[in-house]
Amino acid sequence: MCTKVAVIILAPTLIIKCFTCAGLFLAGNTQKTKRCPYCGKCINLQKAVRVAQVANSLEASELLKQLKIKNANNPRSKL
Ligand SMILES: [Zn+2]
Repeated sequence: MCTKVAVIILAPTLIIKCFTCAGLFLAGNTQKTKRCPYCGKCINLQKAVRVAQVANSLEASELLKQLKIKNANNPRSKL
């Protein structure tokens, strides 16, 4: 079996919820701050809302996709 090498960060990855715009984005759990890709706000990851933590960036992006679908289907969770 030939395994393709994908560009995956094999490190714990956090899903962070921006406290300014409620956008969801990924951050490495060793990072201290991360700029929100939606509103440009610099988020302190120590204080940020951690929606989930998963084993790697691939899982994180899959989970993020599902969370976004869930949010889209549930209007009450929108701000
Ligand atoms: Zn934001």
